[in-house]
Amino acid sequence: MVQLKQNRCDFCGTCVSVCPVDAIELSEFQLIVIKEKCIDCQNCIKICPIEALEWYDEKKI
Ligand code: SF4
Ligand code: SF4
Repeated sequence: MVQLKQNRCDFCGTCVSVCPVDAIELSEFQLIVIKEKCIDCQNCIKICPIEALEWYDEKKI
């Protein structure tokens, strides 16, 4: 599961453009990862220029 470090995102939209299933919704002040759509490809984590997204394993929570 992808999780956003809210304080870090500058809402550049780069992650939205690389998500193959449109699981990221971006508005001016908020970025939401739609859990039900996400296929865990991690493209968004790799592409974010400021490392604002991180991965966590749901099974360990
Ligand atoms: S690429 Fe990173 S900084 Fe840009 S909108 Fe996505 S999470 Fe935020
Ligand atoms: S991990 Fe892949 S599918 Fe999930 S939000 Fe990021 S880019 Fe989209």
